[in-house]
Amino acid sequence: MRLAEAMLKREELMAMFESAGAIRHGHFELSSGLHSGMYVQCALVLQYPRFAEKLGQGLAALFGDLELDAVVSPAMGGLIIGHEVARGLLEGKSYGDGPVGSGVPAIFVERDASGSMTMRRGFSLRPGQRVLVVEDVWTTGGSTREAIRVVEEAGGRVVAAGALIDRSGGALQLGVKTKALLDLAIPSYPAKDCPLCADGSVAVKPGSRFVRGSADADGGSANARTTAGR
Ligand SMILES: [Zn+2]
Repeated sequence: MRLAEAMLKREELMAMFESAGAIRHGHFELSSGLHSGMYVQCALVLQYPRFAEKLGQGLAALFGDLELDAVVSPAMGGLIIGHEVARGLLEGKSYGDGPVGSGVPAIFVERDASGSMTMRRGFSLRPGQRVLVVEDVWTTGGSTREAIRVVEEAGGRVVAAGALIDRSGGALQLGVKTKALLDLAIPSYPAKDCPLCADGSVAVKPGSRFVRGSADADGGSANARTTAGR
C-alpha cells in the first residue's frame, strides 16, 4: 500500500472509534474527577487488530517524509499502536537496521517499581538512531515526554512524536515534530462548574468496571498515575 492511501479522513476515524466504544458521547466522570461530555479509551478500538492495523498505517503515513530507525512507545497505552505504526513504516521510507527483513523495530519503555520510565528487557538503541515516539492519547503529554527522555539517555535521537488522539487542543510542546491522527480538544469541568450537571443529568463513571489501575477513564497509558503527570 502506498502511504497516501493510508491517510484516514476524520469521519472514518470517528466512526471507527465510536463503533468500538472508544469514543463515547454523554456525561462522564473521569478518573481525574472532572466531568466531560466525551469519554475516550483507545484500548477499546485497539482491541480489534484490523482497526489497530489501519490506525497504525494512518499514523505512520503522517511521518512518511522522515527517515526512522525505531519506534518507541510508553507502556501500556502506547504498546499496540507503537507496534502497528512500526509495521506501517515497513512500506514507507524506513531505514531500520535490525535483522534482515525485520523492518523498523517497535520498542517499549515502562515504569519500574519506583515509577520511573525505563528501557528494560534488553531493548537498546545505537547512538544517533532516529526515533519516532508513539502514544495513544496526549492529554498533558507526560508519558511521551518521559519516553523522549529515556530514548535520549539511551543514545537515540527523537525526531518526531505521534499519537492517535491529541486532547491538548494543540497546546502540546514536545520540542520535536508532533502529529496526531485526531485532534479532540474535549472540555472537562469540576463537577460544580459542569454544564451537563447544571442541565440536571447525572455523570457516569465509564472506567469503573475496569480493574483499578489497569485502565483509566481519560484513555491514558500511565500505569502508575500517582508517580507522574501526563
Ligand atoms: Zn457533570
